[in-house]
Amino acid sequence: NTTQPRLPSFLKTKIPTGASFTKIKEDLRGLKLHTVCEEARCPNIGDCWGGSDKSKATATIMLMGDTCTRGCRFCSVKTSKNPPPLDIHEPEHTAEAISRWGLGYIVLTSVDRDDLPDGGAEHFASTIRKIKYKAPNILVEALTGDFAGNLDHVALVAKSGLDVYAHNVETVEALTPFVRDRRATFRQSLSVLAKAKAEGVRVTKTSMMLGVGETEEQVLDALKELRKVDVDVVTFGQYMRPTKRHMKVHRYVEPAEFERWKKVAEDMGFLYVASGPLVRSSYKAGEFFIENVLR
Ligand code: SF4
Ligand code: SF4
Repeated sequence: NTTQPRLPSFLKTKIPTGASFTKIKEDLRGLKLHTVCEEARCPNIGDCWGGSDKSKATATIMLMGDTCTRGCRFCSVKTSKNPPPLDIHEPEHTAEAISRWGLGYIVLTSVDRDDLPDGGAEHFASTIRKIKYKAPNILVEALTGDFAGNLDHVALVAKSGLDVYAHNVETVEALTPFVRDRRATFRQSLSVLAKAKAEGVRVTKTSMMLGVGETEEQVLDALKELRKVDVDVVTFGQYMRPTKRHMKVHRYVEPAEFERWKKVAEDMGFLYVASGPLVRSSYKAGEFFIENVLR
């Protein structure tokens, strides 16, 4: 497609290496865990899995299957109104595998399951409770959908014993209807993050893609709204188009501009900001949280 801007060199990634990376990969064999890191071929796997210390490594696990009831215009996950039923053994199996794997920080995420009466909230919460029972030292972040705005479902996850509650606004308010599924709104996402905080979660977190067509003013407004509901952590990354059926990249944002947003957000009072072309919402979360916030 000729109307797409060309891929700049700072978005080309290197092949991950390192002793810790190789060890974590070996340990994973036989555990039957599906990591988003591997399955989505995340460019950060070398950074998240490759530090010198396995107890600070981060991985992201997908719960509740591979089929989403929503269809966001940037996302390559497949969509259906009626995904297969939940695997009732998944919370136990996942918790057992994670406790044996021995990583320091686990992000649990999922497809959106608008077909389930509780949106999958109890499934999420039960997985977290079981991880914390088997391995209390592992830090757990839940990266959830918006539960269609049902704040009781948000509370169920928020009170499960997790350390970090994440929900991504993905983009600025004005572009939300063009970027996310029509059932998602910026305001609904703010209410999810506010509810998690109100339930006593220590750290709340969100993520935005840049390069979708947003203006500087819109990004600033979004940051202000997020601070109003006490969101602690924000991450910025470049939107990358998964296939030609997905929305176009509006522009590739320069590394210096990501740096500037990091500074702006820190000055506004966010506790931690990760910002860079290849940053994804879980980028090196373990290293940061273990060193700075939660221990
Ligand atoms: Fe895995 Fe997230 Fe790190 Fe990518 S950014 S390697 S998905 S933990
Ligand atoms: Fe993808 Fe999440 Fe949107 Fe589903 S709700 S299409 S998994 S971004």
